Amino acid sequence: MEKEMKYNTQFECMDKSCNTVTIGHNRMDGVRCPRCSGPVIPKPFKLGEKVGKDKPLKTQPITDDINEIGKTLEKQILDLEGKISDLEQSLVSLEIKKRVRGSV
Ligand SMILES: [Zn+2]
Repeated sequence: MEKEMKYNTQFECMDKSCNTVTIGHNRMDGVRCPRCSGPVIPKPFKLGEKVGKDKPLKTQPITDDINEIGKTLEKQILDLEGKISDLEQSLVSLEIKKRVRGSV
């Protein structure tokens, strides 16, 4: 008699893009993918088996990327602000020239 309820079956979603794996028991009937409600294939459950893509999640580089993007954006915004104030200055000087001309 089994004392522990060990999982012996994993149900893999047939949708390749979903690829969700649900673990359970082979007695379970009518198992559907909890994510897309699609059909699943029962397979023997293996502890420690890598599920889905073998690529490990890279969290650090992503935050680095975000930081880099943030820095670049900040630079670009500063550049833009500089350009805008330059434009404003030239507009002001244009305005002054116009007024000077108009008054003459
Ligand atoms: Zn699915």
